[in-house]
Amino acid sequence: MDPPTQKHSRVVIVGGSLAGLMCAIVLKKAGYHVQVLEQDDDQRRSHMAGIGLGPVGARFLSQYARLESVFTHTTNGVHLLKGDGSMKLLAQGRREITSWDTLYLCFPPHPADDTGGTATYSSNTKVIKIESSGASGSGLVVFAQDTTTKKEYCIPAAMIIGADGPDSVVRARYLPEVRRHYAGYVAWRGTIPENEVSADTFKMFESSVVAHTMKKQHCIVYSIPGADGSLEPGRRFLNFLWYTNESPEALEDILVDNEGRRRHNIVPATYVREEVWAARLEEARSMCLPKAVLEVMGMIRHPFIQVITDFCSPCAMFEGGKALLVGDAVSLFRPHAAMGGAQAAYHALLLEQYLCGEISLEGWHDRVTQFSYSFWLQSVWWGEFYQGTFRTALLSGLRYWLHCGRRWLAQLWARKAADV
Ligand SMILES: Cc1cc2nc3c(=O)[nH]c(=O)nc-3n(C[C@H](O)[C@H](O)[C@H](O)COP(=O)(O)OP(=O)(O)OC[C@H]3O[C@@H](n4cnc5c(N)ncnc54)[C@H](O)[C@@H]3O)c2cc1C
Repeated sequence: MDPPTQKHSRVVIVGGSLAGLMCAIVLKKAGYHVQVLEQDDDQRRSHMAGIGLGPVGARFLSQYARLESVFTHTTNGVHLLKGDGSMKLLAQGRREITSWDTLYLCFPPHPADDTGGTATYSSNTKVIKIESSGASGSGLVVFAQDTTTKKEYCIPAAMIIGADGPDSVVRARYLPEVRRHYAGYVAWRGTIPENEVSADTFKMFESSVVAHTMKKQHCIVYSIPGADGSLEPGRRFLNFLWYTNESPEALEDILVDNEGRRRHNIVPATYVREEVWAARLEEARSMCLPKAVLEVMGMIRHPFIQVITDFCSPCAMFEGGKALLVGDAVSLFRPHAAMGGAQAAYHALLLEQYLCGEISLEGWHDRVTQFSYSFWLQSVWWGEFYQGTFRTALLSGLRYWLHCGRRWLAQLWARKAADV
C-alpha cells in the first residue's frame, strides 16, 4: 500500500524532541514538506540525564545525523556495588550512553537536499487539537497557539505525526482512555562533574553502570557526556538515580516545588524544596549506602525528582494512516532499560521503510506496536524486580516471557506458511 500522502505534501509533526526530530529528518529526506511544532521555546531545558541508544539508535544516527565526533560513552556492563564497597559483575554487555542534550544537538538544521523536501521547526507553538477537514474528511487540520502572543491559527496537513510524548494531544483525540499510570515509585536524580569526586570514586564509575540494590529500592550511577558533550575523562558528568517507593500521600509533599506549586511527573532541577532533598540525604546516610554513592549524592547541587509512570497504547495509526503516533506518545517505558531513545529511532526507521514502500502501513503499525509493547512489558518487569514484591515481579516476568513465546510462535508459523 502506498503512503497516504504524495511526496511534497505537507506533514505536520507535533512535538520537536527526539522522536519528532528523527521523523522530520526521515520525511524531509523522502521529499516531504515537514513542519515541526514544538510548545517549548528554543532554549530546551534538558533534564541533564543519561539516555541509552541501543544498536537501533546508533543505526539511525549513522544513517542520518551529521556526526562530527563521537558522542556516546561506552559502558561494558552493569556491576553490582555491595555495601562493603566490593563490586560484582551483574550483566555483561556494551551499552552506548549519551545525554539528552548531546543527542538533541546531533540534529543541526540541514540545508535543503536534492529530494526537494523541506523542514521548518516552530518553537513556542502548542497544538491544541486536530480535526478532519474537507467534506469527506480527506485531510487534517492542526489548531495551534503561539505561546508568546496567544494567537491561535490552523494549519492544513496531509499527514500528522504525533511525536508529542506521553501526554500526547494527538493520542488523546483517538484514545482518550490511554493514560500514564503511577508505577508506585520515584527517582531522585542529579548529575555532578566527575572531576569533583575522589580518585577511588572516579575509578569505580568510570566504565560501567553501577547499581546498588536494597529492599525495594536501588541506586544507579554511571558517567555521561559533560555539559558541552565532552567524553574526555574528567570532563564528563556522573549521573545519579535513587529509586524509592512512595505512597500517594508522600507524593503530595514531595511534588510541591519551592514556589508552592504541585508538580505532576517531574520536579525539575532548581525547583526541589531544600528540606525535601535534605531529608533524603539524611535518610541515605542513616541507611549506610556505599561510601562512593553517598559521596556522589552529597555533591548534587540541583537534584530533580522524576515520578515513574508508564503506559502502552494498543494503536499508533488513525484516519487510515493520515495520523500516526511515534516515540513516547506510543508507549512510555519505565526507565530501567533506557530504551526511550531507541524506541524513537526504531519508529523513525520504520517510517522510512514505509515511505519507500519496503513495508505496508499495516506492517509499519504491527512492528511499531509490537516493539513498544514488548519493551514496555520488559520495562515493567525490570521495574517490579527492583521495586515491587516477589509476586508482582514474578507475574510481570511471566507476562513478558509469555508474550515473547507467543510472538516467537507466531513468527515461526508465518515462516512455515510462507514456505508452503
Ligand atoms: C527537554 C527534554 C529532556 C529530556 N531529557 C531526558 C534525559 O535526560 N534522559 C532520558 O532518558 N530522557 C529524556 N527525555 C525523554 C526522552 O526524550 C524520551 O523518552 C524519548 O527519547 C522519546 O522522545 P519523544 O520525542 O517521543 O518524547 P518527548 O521527549 O517527551 O518529547 C515530546 C515533545 O513534544 C512536545 N509537546 C508535547 N505536547 C505538545 C503540544 N500539544 N504541542 C506542541 N508540542 C508538544 C514536548 O514539549 C516535547 O518536546 C527528555 C525529554 C525532553 C522533552
